[in-house]
Amino acid sequence: MDDVLVVGGSFAGLSAALQLGRARRKVSVLDTGLNRNRYADSAHNVLGHDGVPPGDILAAARRQLEAYPTVRLIEGRASTVSGQPDDFTITTETGDSFAARRLILSYGITDEMPPIPGFAEAWGKTVIHCPFCHGYEAGPRWGLLYSTPMSLHAPALYGDWTEDITLILDGNAIPDAERNKLQRRGVKIHDGKLAAVHQDNGHMSGVSLEDGTKVELDALYAHPRNHPSADLHEQLGLETDTTPTGTMVVVGERQATSREGVFAAGDLTTPMHSVTSAAYAGSMAAMGAQQSMLL
Ligand SMILES: Cc1cc2nc3c(=O)[nH]c(=O)nc-3n(C[C@H](O)[C@H](O)[C@H](O)COP(=O)(O)OP(=O)(O)OC[C@H]3O[C@@H](n4cnc5c(N)ncnc54)[C@H](O)[C@@H]3O)c2cc1C
Repeated sequence: MDDVLVVGGSFAGLSAALQLGRARRKVSVLDTGLNRNRYADSAHNVLGHDGVPPGDILAAARRQLEAYPTVRLIEGRASTVSGQPDDFTITTETGDSFAARRLILSYGITDEMPPIPGFAEAWGKTVIHCPFCHGYEAGPRWGLLYSTPMSLHAPALYGDWTEDITLILDGNAIPDAERNKLQRRGVKIHDGKLAAVHQDNGHMSGVSLEDGTKVELDALYAHPRNHPSADLHEQLGLETDTTPTGTMVVVGERQATSREGVFAAGDLTTPMHSVTSAAYAGSMAAMGAQQSMLL
């Protein structure tokens, strides 16, 4: 039996495995290799790895983990979970079964691509979700696709990167006071619904709206709905909360979930998504799991 079974071996899960391996704890990591930022050519705002392809960062982490004999990295999709502290069991979709004293859930979230022509193809390249990740490299003409009332706060932040911001309301109504405030800030506003994203060879020329309007843009910020990438937290009955765009598992001190012996980390547990915060949370979850096993 493992001390800890980690479900999801990306930034959060591998960080947890590193910390546990260095504590000589037996840990297995189940992973399907679909890190959320795999659509982007490079990861940014990651200390010591700025501009490095996300897959390269993870591959280096996996190579470094090979030095730890108590760590096993296993390809496989966890599909069911049962048990209690000191006796959890996870089975994979191929029927393999793994037992562990503690669990760390770090299987991340999946972004739901809207059926807009060109949107999914441009995701992570010129349709982006986070200015800190890819804003520095984006050209000056920024679009923002309205998704929730939170979208109305984004132009103030984006002002640190560019003064050329176009808000596409995508058919949503906003209060006049908000519209006036944004227009005073110089934000251009289109009410129409997004019809298509035009990207060629990694460069965006703009977007089209259903009313035929063409808007010239270098990048479109968008925050599509997302959902957890697996349902083990539901099987375990963990407490969850809603975020502006999806669902997250509620965690407390050292990433402990509402169920004893189960920890969670990474995008699954916060509305603030980044490689650095996922790695930090993975490390904290490892600490929580380890401390919970001390006699
Ligand atoms: C397009 C894009 C670009 C981004 N760029 C940046 C950036 O430049 N800088 C930055 O800091 N952040 C960036 N982010 C955010 C960053 O990708 C996430 O915050 C980070 O990947 C979260 O790490 P995680 O380990 O929590 O989850 P993920 O990276 O999503 O990893 C989850 C892992 O769990 C695995 N998994 C899922 N289900 C199962 C299962 N049932 N069994 C086993 N394994 C499973 C998946 O295959 C995956 O490997 C970007 C996000 C997007 C969408």
